[in-house]
Amino acid sequence: LKMDDLPAFTHTPVNDISGIHDLVVRTFHAHTTRSLQYRLKQLRSLYWGLKDAEPALTEALKLDLGKSAHESWMAEIMWCLNDIVFVCKNLEAWMVDEAAPDIPLMNQLMRPRIRKDPLGAVLIIGAFNFPFMLSLCPLIGALAAGCTAVLKPSENAPNSARIMQHVIEQSLSPDAYQVVQGGVPETTALLEQKWDKIFYTGNPVVGKIIAKKAAETLTPVTLELGGRNPAIVSKHADPRLAARRLLWTKLFCAGQVCVSQNYVLVDKDLLPALTHELGQALQEFQPKGAKGNEDYSRIVNERQWDRLKSLLDSTKGKILYGGYTDRDTLLFEPTVVQVESADDPLLQVESFGPLIPILAVQNLDEAIHIANDTDATPLAMYAFGSKADNAKVLAETRSGGATLNDAMFHASMPTLPFGGVGDSGQGSYRGRESFNCFTHRRSITQTPGWLEGLIDFRYPPYTAKKFKA
Ligand code: NAD
Repeated sequence: LKMDDLPAFTHTPVNDISGIHDLVVRTFHAHTTRSLQYRLKQLRSLYWGLKDAEPALTEALKLDLGKSAHESWMAEIMWCLNDIVFVCKNLEAWMVDEAAPDIPLMNQLMRPRIRKDPLGAVLIIGAFNFPFMLSLCPLIGALAAGCTAVLKPSENAPNSARIMQHVIEQSLSPDAYQVVQGGVPETTALLEQKWDKIFYTGNPVVGKIIAKKAAETLTPVTLELGGRNPAIVSKHADPRLAARRLLWTKLFCAGQVCVSQNYVLVDKDLLPALTHELGQALQEFQPKGAKGNEDYSRIVNERQWDRLKSLLDSTKGKILYGGYTDRDTLLFEPTVVQVESADDPLLQVESFGPLIPILAVQNLDEAIHIANDTDATPLAMYAFGSKADNAKVLAETRSGGATLNDAMFHASMPTLPFGGVGDSGQGSYRGRESFNCFTHRRSITQTPGWLEGLIDFRYPPYTAKKFKA
């Protein structure tokens, strides 16, 4: 299968959207998606659909973002396939009723337990930077939980959206799983419908639009948003290690990663060593420069490129490495900028691109103060330093997740919940959390008739004798 074999990217007619919604709602209420067998069949079918389409998935990512086959395999294709395998392996155990803990003997006779019911018909809205992972992993959670779903992939990665639609149409039951293509008008029409859950990945401004709309119908939401992620490098850090690891997060998908660091706060004593090592690492990772690196992603579109360029132009800092940009090819060199103040625009907004602003600080306390001096709680936080330094950073900051002596790794563990806190989002998913995300934990008890003699003290009239019982 090649991308040329597929129909062009076309928006779903807005007038079709309520019908698509009604279809998946009806299917949910027919209860067919609830059995373990049905769920496993869908998941396995999706696995093989993706496996068969692997070359086209890689091609689509190259077309949309200039992503290398290496990154596409590591953080998109293998990621989704592994997620399906993990879910299939564990699903039966997750679906089993959970016994209520610490219950007195009398109540145990009522078999108190937690049943795992699917939430219902859900809407999943994906983002462009990891178009497969950010759309399919929530969908895998919805499938596992026995929900029906509509997926709205990001229109900003249109080729990935096309191949996802193809794979989903080929692999999943069309009465239960549908893809809607489009941008704001189509998503707005989707938000007009009543869902049992909305799962949104993207920027916090749109996150608020989703949350407001969902509130009108009391629809629960999971919001996977972004933020300004700090990396704190203390004077006890290994500068070479910190430089290589932090640089990698900005070469990966050209820094268009929600968990890449937005800025680096480094102890003033380590600044020269860190900037030197960043130069060395850049030379090593991109010996022919960004332009000559076929594996280096492009910025997704002109709009995002223009935003990044004006952000770079607005800094009062000094460019140490990089700075080359080319709008025609959407190339944006990884650019290290030494800034003089925490008020610099590069620290004040999420770049979501290959900008690496570095600010020297007096000590760890100042770094922590700057990291906390925000009303937007970060999605991720990175600390490089001694064990005590890292423990202090963790204890005195907040973030959705954190990695110590490295970056991004906490987001790659299939059994760690992934999500934000405060402004960086609410709710989480991955592994079992993906199943939980689309599951209602329904409390159940059942009172045997023969227990009546032991519990009839509850009925009025409330005599003194009954009260003592
Ligand atoms: P995007 O442009 O792909 O938009 C995301 C989705 O929002 C798309 O499906 C789009 O159609 C929809 N959308 C846009 N405007 C809308 C509107 N007015 N109403 C309803 N829906 C609308 O991606 P983006 O938002 O530019 O993504 C970048 C941001 O997302 C960054 O802040 C990044 O940190 C964050 N992000 C977070 C995660 C995470 O897992 N927490 C992952 C990726 C990106």
